[in-house]
Amino acid sequence: MSTPSILNVDDYAPGLYARSKVLKQAGFQVIEAMTGGQTLELVSNRMPAIVLLDVNLPDMSGFEVCKQIKANAKTASTTVVHISASSAQAQHLVEGLNCGADSYLVEPVDPAVLVATLRAFLRTREAEQALRRSNEELQRFAYMVAHELNEPLRTMSTHTQLLAKQLKQPLDQGTSECIDYVLDGARRMRFFIDDILRYSQAIHDSRDVRPMNGEAILANVVANLYAAIENCGVEITHDPLPDFKADGRVEQVFQNLIGNAIKYRRPEVPLKVHISAHPVSGGWQFSVKDNGLGIDAKYLHQIFHIFRRLQGREIPGNGIGLALSQKIIEAHGGRIWVESEPGIGSTFHFTIPQQQEASTTV
Ligand code: ADP
Repeated sequence: MSTPSILNVDDYAPGLYARSKVLKQAGFQVIEAMTGGQTLELVSNRMPAIVLLDVNLPDMSGFEVCKQIKANAKTASTTVVHISASSAQAQHLVEGLNCGADSYLVEPVDPAVLVATLRAFLRTREAEQALRRSNEELQRFAYMVAHELNEPLRTMSTHTQLLAKQLKQPLDQGTSECIDYVLDGARRMRFFIDDILRYSQAIHDSRDVRPMNGEAILANVVANLYAAIENCGVEITHDPLPDFKADGRVEQVFQNLIGNAIKYRRPEVPLKVHISAHPVSGGWQFSVKDNGLGIDAKYLHQIFHIFRRLQGREIPGNGIGLALSQKIIEAHGGRIWVESEPGIGSTFHFTIPQQQEASTTV
C-alpha cells in the first residue's frame, strides 16, 4: 500500500514548516498549501488522504474550503482536520465541525498526539474504503448476474411460445398447463431480474436531479397501476402535490408504495389510499396512507431489508420494492419509515430534502 499523503495547510510559513517536519518524520508523504485556492486545487488533483487545514487563510476561511471539499462528489471522502489558534472558542469548533470537518484540533497540539490522531483517522479510512470496495463488488456482481440471466430467459420464453404454436392445435389440457407454468415462471423471473437490476443501479448510478411535479408523478403512477386499480376498485385521494426537485426515480417510490397499498389490502374492506404532502425544514414530506392489512410492530424495520416479505406466494412480490425505495430516498438525503396497525392500515412516510439541480454520484 502506498504511503498515505497529508495535505498540510497553513499561511504561516514557520508553522507550516514545523508541522510538515513532524509529519515527514512520522513517515507520511506531505504536500503543502498556504491558501484556500491552492488547497482546493491540490485536493482535487493529488487526492490526499487527510487535509490538515488551518482555519485562518488569506483568501478564504478554512470552513469555506472544507465545505467545498465536502460538497464535491470527487473529494467528499477526504478527511478534513481543522487546526486553529489557541484562542478558538467553542462556537468555532461547532461551526468547523458543522461545515463537514471530521475533527478540530486547537493549538498547541503535541506532535505525538497529532501523529496518533492522523493514524487513527487513516485506520478508519482504510476500513471504510475496504467496506466501500466490497459493497461495489457485490453491486457489480448482482448487476452482472441479473444482466446475464436476462438473455437465456428471453430465449426460453420465446421458444416455449414458438413450440406452443407448432404443436398440434388444440393443445390438450396437460400440455397447455405445462406451457402456462413455464411462461408464468419466466415472467416472474423477469420481474425479479428487473427489480434486482433497478436495485443495483439505484446504488451506484449517478442521480439526475430535475424539477418534478407531484401531480404529474401521481398521474403516471395511476396510469401504470391502471389494471390493479380497476381490479380492486380502490379509492385514491390526495392533497395538492407540490413541485420539487429530485431524481426521476422518486416516481418509482410512489409507485412501490401505492402498488403495495393495493396488494396488501383487506379483501373484506373497500380500499382507500390517501397521498399527502407537507413542507418540512427545507424540503417535503410525503405520506401514503392505506386501510389495508397493516403490519405488526416487530416487522416495521425489517420490511425495508431486501427480500424481507411477510406474506407467502399468495400475494406476488420479490421483497425488493421497499429496499429499493429506501436506497432512492437515502440517496436524496431523505428518510423513509412506516407507521402501522395490524387490521387497521399503514402509513408510509418519506422526506425529500431540497436538492441541488446537478448530477451527483450517489
Ligand atoms: P414485495 O411487495 O415485493 O413483497 P416490498 O419490499 O415492497 O416487497 O415489501 C416488503 C413487505 O412489506 C411485503 O412483502 C409486505 O409483507 C410488507 N408491506 C409492504 N407494504 C405494505 C402495506 N402497505 N401494507 C401491509 N404490508 C406491507
